[in-house]
Amino acid sequence: MRIAVINSGSSSLKFKLFDMDTKEVLDSELREHIGEDGAEYATHKEALESIAVDFESIDAVGHRVVHGGESFSESILIDARVEEGIEKLIPLAPLHNPANLEGIKALREKIGNTPQVAVFDTAFHASLPKEAYIYALPYEMYEKHKVRRYGFHGTSHSFVMKVAAKKLQKDVSEINLITLHLGNGASACAIKNGKSIDTSMGFTPLEGLVMGSRSGDLDPAILLFMQRELMLSVDEVDTMLNKKSGLLGICQENDLRKIIKSEEKHAKLALSIMIRRVQKYIGSYMALLGNVDALVFTGGIGENSEYVREKILDSTLFQSLKVLVIQTDEELEIANQTLLTIEKKV
Ligand code: ADP
Repeated sequence: MRIAVINSGSSSLKFKLFDMDTKEVLDSELREHIGEDGAEYATHKEALESIAVDFESIDAVGHRVVHGGESFSESILIDARVEEGIEKLIPLAPLHNPANLEGIKALREKIGNTPQVAVFDTAFHASLPKEAYIYALPYEMYEKHKVRRYGFHGTSHSFVMKVAAKKLQKDVSEINLITLHLGNGASACAIKNGKSIDTSMGFTPLEGLVMGSRSGDLDPAILLFMQRELMLSVDEVDTMLNKKSGLLGICQENDLRKIIKSEEKHAKLALSIMIRRVQKYIGSYMALLGNVDALVFTGGIGENSEYVREKILDSTLFQSLKVLVIQTDEELEIANQTLLTIEKKV
């Protein structure tokens, strides 16, 4: 059985082809800068067309879809109704869901009725209890406008949870973890008995930890100040928070390897702010979980930087925690979910 995985980001497209019997990667391709000025590929469709694979030989395709809203709490076989559902969620993920849809539609032209499965970044967090996902806003913001915490990186948190359970020789349904996906985007997740019960990303991936170029948690009044007093437009504030903040905003650099090596004072400050935020989340998730079987580091930073891991763990409160470093593999998890979903339908 051969399963292809398509992970379309706002301006990138990752393609991987798996042999599901051996879990071997048969092909792996990356297309970047899609739609940017002077780029090789104007659309995700063109990028996909450029991948020279015999699509006839593929048994199923799994697509990463960023936002499943409240409509999709698990992976699902894509049909016209599902495509419509993903389209309806575009206001919640204006950069990502259109790219994901374009990938799905472009492939349909190539592979006809071969099953395609949507695997949602939000789905693992469908188990959040209401007290975790309702913001303290007028309740109609949730009821009428669906403003709530959704959480993201679910595929990664769920993948490392399963690996951690194996390592600890525990059943997934009995495991309590704090998982930290620390990459350019970053999020923390509190997992109780194998289910996400809280996570740091919220209505969008902007909330929570300090990221490469995203601010994470802020006093929302700052946004009002920027608009009222500094006369910034909504789009300017949006760009500032998502693309010009985080590590990049503080020290003009978002590559953590360079930040760690730098002696420059803003670089040191950026690192301290980022680490302190992670520590605050670990502490609060310890309070929510009570017993924690392990703290799991993953993502480019979490997997590779012993220095950052040590700095994060430098608190007396954390000395009793068992620490695991697990390499995430979102594409493999999407392939596994795709297989499970099509098997359920047969
Ligand atoms: P994305 O969210 O874009 O998938 P990654 O998970 O690839 O990001 O993580 C990218 C981040 O990981 C960058 O900040 C990079 O500097 C950092 N990183 C990668 N390797 C190391 C390392 N050995 N030490 C410190 N940081 C690292």
